[in-house]
Amino acid sequence: MEVETREIKVKTKGNTDIIDITGLVGSEITASGLQNGTVTVFVPGSTAAVSTMEYEPGLKKDIPLALEKIAPAAADYAHHKTWGDFNGSAHVRAALIGPSIVVPFTGGRLVLGTWQQIALFDFDTGPRDRRIVLQIMGVK
Ligand code: ZN
Repeated sequence: MEVETREIKVKTKGNTDIIDITGLVGSEITASGLQNGTVTVFVPGSTAAVSTMEYEPGLKKDIPLALEKIAPAAADYAHHKTWGDFNGSAHVRAALIGPSIVVPFTGGRLVLGTWQQIALFDFDTGPRDRRIVLQIMGVK
């Protein structure tokens, strides 16, 4: 069994920007040379998240609208009194979705549903350069 830690970099617009990173993750698995195992996809930071979704234009609107009902951007958050950075909504949304997922791969390919992509969610209040850590564990 081997462990390979890799990084991918993504530029985001913030404000619940959703980016399909499936291709980037798949390329790193190919580059690792590992055939069977799991990849942990983790975003460092408490205002972004990683999950899977069907990456299509409707859901790219529906998911932000649903999150706006749960953690409205304009609401008052105790967090604002802590730092004065006014991104309480981003932190709450990121905590709900979570910073990482684990995806299996077989034959060097991600095991995903036909309509399932790996997505990075950036909830912060402006553009960010995000680093995503991939820890690939498997065999050749
Ligand atoms: Zn904050």
